[in-house]
Amino acid sequence: MLQRILGQERIFEHLRSLISEGRGAGSYLFTGMRGVGKWAYGFLFAAAFCCEDERQKPCGRCRSCQAAQRFAHPDLQILFPFPNLEASKKKVTVFQFSDPVSGTKFSEATGAEVNRFLQEKAEDPFRMVRFEGKPNIPVEVLRDLRKFLRFSPMWGGNRAVLISDIENMAHGSADIFLKTIEEPPSNTAIILTTSYPEKLPATVLSRCRVFTFQSVDEQRIREYLKLYFGGEKLDYRFIERASRFCPGMARALIEENASELRDVLLGMMSAAARGEYYFERSLGKNEPDFNVGGAGLNAVTLMGWIIRDIIVMRSGGNVDDIINCDRAEIMSGLANRLSVERAERFLGEINNIKLACQLSNVMPITAFRHLLTLIKREFAKPSIS
Ligand SMILES: [Zn+2]
Repeated sequence: MLQRILGQERIFEHLRSLISEGRGAGSYLFTGMRGVGKWAYGFLFAAAFCCEDERQKPCGRCRSCQAAQRFAHPDLQILFPFPNLEASKKKVTVFQFSDPVSGTKFSEATGAEVNRFLQEKAEDPFRMVRFEGKPNIPVEVLRDLRKFLRFSPMWGGNRAVLISDIENMAHGSADIFLKTIEEPPSNTAIILTTSYPEKLPATVLSRCRVFTFQSVDEQRIREYLKLYFGGEKLDYRFIERASRFCPGMARALIEENASELRDVLLGMMSAAARGEYYFERSLGKNEPDFNVGGAGLNAVTLMGWIIRDIIVMRSGGNVDDIINCDRAEIMSGLANRLSVERAERFLGEINNIKLACQLSNVMPITAFRHLLTLIKREFAKPSIS
């Protein structure tokens, strides 16, 4: 898992030169879109910082690299937000450094989820691992981390701490945390990741060296998808574009059948355009999984992309410019049904539905049925041209 980089060479050149010049210690913030691979890059940097080889870091072979890949390195700590399941039955110590006597104990269910996270990351460090329930980084864990950093590294070399999705640290723990990242011990690198730097206190941002990871190129993401999903013949264009060229997101979209769900929506819109309303009746039996979890994707989001594509096409854009470029013919047909003005209004309504789902407890099924009404209203109108 230390070999695959998927681009980002310039950042890694820079990070490696920091390590080789002895300036690797300190606090870092890795930012970038969801699924771009911040965790994978953070882990790679942490392993490189701890690696005992003089020439190639990380080498993948030394004692440090071997232990890092088994998540059994005493001086390479991996922390991440997790849900505290069944808090009343506290049994399991979650992270290696947590003091088993005084310290942080969580339920077996939580321990199992934490292990699943690590297993999935070991299999594919780019994978977006999601939890049931709202994950956070409890204040006890951050307190333990502070204690942990007071001791010298067990193996006498460098030490690294990787904390992902740091915006999920528990409310009120910022103070403890600031002291940790402000002055990490001389041989320690603390690497934080977030997709939402704007949610972090300015005091955290100002104490870190910030690196922003950009999406990867088309060729690399396709190689990555072929590695996991195979298929010389498979058309990954929609997935690549919908993920905004972020490998982890692309993988999540495939696992959540985003293409199939998108085709269901396109079918409904085409049916409405033909004046057929059978799709409403057929829904009862074949209701698509419109609120798939991991990527936070749902029919409303997919619908937004379709309408945005229609706006691009009607504004003179090429079919190569759109997300749904693999369904060019259907998209052209649908684009003929909507003026830019109507499409923009429709997109506004879709965004309102999304917002309502996020902000209040609108049931996904309610949102979806509302969406159907809108599809019928817009696409059953006579064609414009
Ligand atoms: Zn090594």
